[in-house]
Amino acid sequence: TVREAGGNKIVSLSTATHKALNRKALIEKRLLQALDQKNLKVFYQPQIDIVSGHIITVEALVRWEDEIIGVVSPDELIPIAEETGLINNIGSFMLEKACEQALTWKKAGYDFKVSINLSVREFRDKNMAKSILNTLAKTGCPASLLQIEITEKFALEAEAASSIIQQMRKLENEGITFVLDDFGTGYGSFKYMQILPIDTLKIDQTFTSSLLKSEKTQKLMHGMVQLGKSMGLKVVAEGVETAEQAKLLVTYGCDAMQGFYISKPVTPEEITTLLVQKQS
Ligand code: C2E
Ligand code: MG
Ligand code: MG
Ligand code: MG
Repeated sequence: TVREAGGNKIVSLSTATHKALNRKALIEKRLLQALDQKNLKVFYQPQIDIVSGHIITVEALVRWEDEIIGVVSPDELIPIAEETGLINNIGSFMLEKACEQALTWKKAGYDFKVSINLSVREFRDKNMAKSILNTLAKTGCPASLLQIEITEKFALEAEAASSIIQQMRKLENEGITFVLDDFGTGYGSFKYMQILPIDTLKIDQTFTSSLLKSEKTQKLMHGMVQLGKSMGLKVVAEGVETAEQAKLLVTYGCDAMQGFYISKPVTPEEITTLLVQKQS
């Protein structure tokens, strides 16, 4: 009967599922509109050279506040966009914005890379490399100013599709660099370090956040930095929130760091202000 506990449970579960589906459908619908009206925003988070303190890269991160839904975080937005295919539209939007912005900063006399996050799904498109190069040409942004962050999830599929690796090589030949993002969290890290044209390892923020709490994490972090360096890669730590964490990373020989300790992701105008303060 309906009074059975199990019965009630099923009812409430399906209500929750129903709600989630509704939210997903609403997000999809509103996202389509937001993309149409170019209502998404790009925030940038600086990454600094650990020795000079200069900004060497800024990471472009999507931001979306919808009139009806409110703020939708990337952690909710990106998986839905990947599922629906709208990730391609987000990718082109981010790429174009990032290229325009990189050029603006270059013209103002600042030379650093802008890094964008791309999903594996976007590289399944055989014309991805071509369309990235087209955007560079269209915006006038030099390829050397563009960096692309991929995750191990990306790498996993890249192995299955050698055309993805070919596209990466093509972009690399043009001067675009690749970062293996969230390094250390997947199970293919070491393998992909060998087969993908990677320039930088970005160690996942979960390691940084437990750095001071665990001696094991300290040893692991130190080891990962050494491993990356010995393979000729640059190593970046993300999620750096305190001076104590930063100090340890310096002793490990980490090249760069990114995190709230330096700055949270901010508007391009705020980056310009930071630049004027830090490296004029
Ligand atoms: P990610 O690429 O690993 O980016 C780092 C995330 O950590 C960002 O979250 C950033 O705001 C956050 N973060 C930075 N410093 C700190 C810190 O010191 N402490 C803590 N606790 N967090 C910090 P965000 O912007 O919410 O993005 C989450 C993820 O969503 C990104 O992880 C990335 O995988 C994805 N993402 C964001 N924007 C895009 C995009 O335009 N395209 C794609 N495909 N994915 C994106
Ligand atoms: Mg990233
Ligand atoms: Mg990351
Ligand atoms: Mg992440």
